Amino acid sequence: NISNRLRIVSKYLPKEANFCDIGSDHAHLPCFVCLKDENAKAIAGEINEGPYQSALNQVTKLNLQSRIDVRKGNGLAVVSPGEVNQVVIAGMGGTLISTILAEGLDKLDSVERIITQPNINARYVRKWLYKHNYYLVEEQLIEEDGYHYEILVADKNRHQQQKELTEKEYYFGPILLENKSGPFLTKWDLVLQKKIRIVQQMKAAAEPDKDKIAEFEQQIEWLEEVLR
Ligand code: SAM
Repeated sequence: NISNRLRIVSKYLPKEANFCDIGSDHAHLPCFVCLKDENAKAIAGEINEGPYQSALNQVTKLNLQSRIDVRKGNGLAVVSPGEVNQVVIAGMGGTLISTILAEGLDKLDSVERIITQPNINARYVRKWLYKHNYYLVEEQLIEEDGYHYEILVADKNRHQQQKELTEKEYYFGPILLENKSGPFLTKWDLVLQKKIRIVQQMKAAAEPDKDKIAEFEQQIEWLEEVLR
């Protein structure tokens, strides 16, 4: 009963993964991974009591307690330095994901891969990753039940600093922009129509927010270029 979205996330974990899933909710992802791979192990982190209990129940029901440790706490605070080699953070906004990564920086020394699925504002996550030597190796944009989801896979490169992306690449994702898949075009066409309406409304306001309007107009220009 795992979603296609989480199934795709799971594909980017290596064999014998040793990972944490932050904001794990029902621990669907770690359970799926550990049932498929008997050498995988995981920490399922949850900040809220309800989802934490759901995760505990699910792990107990599937008898995976020896390999999935369910922990309650904020972001990467539930992980000790050196404990995991991959980090998954899915189903939250990009701002929250970046905050969790920033606050957990001291837990990332041993982390070779970070897989995120920001619901919105993926550009903040990309920016955080590039600033901290995690570089995108794969990106996917999928549609499920009428929603569009972006999945970002970034690997640490300790030795080679890569160059910063352009603002446009941070916005669309460098790999997604290169591929321009069907779901990518559908998503951004919807966003373009919405932005055009919003800019019209903003301009009609009593005190228009000039900076915000300029930012949106820049994005509209990119969108028109990309969709042309
Ligand atoms: N990761 C799952 C997925 O992708 O289907 C669940 C996503 S759910 C929408 C977001 C979960 O993140 C909620 O269960 C919430 O309690 C948890 N969460 C939010 N902020 C958190 C934080 N700072 N640390 C840990 N968990 C958090």
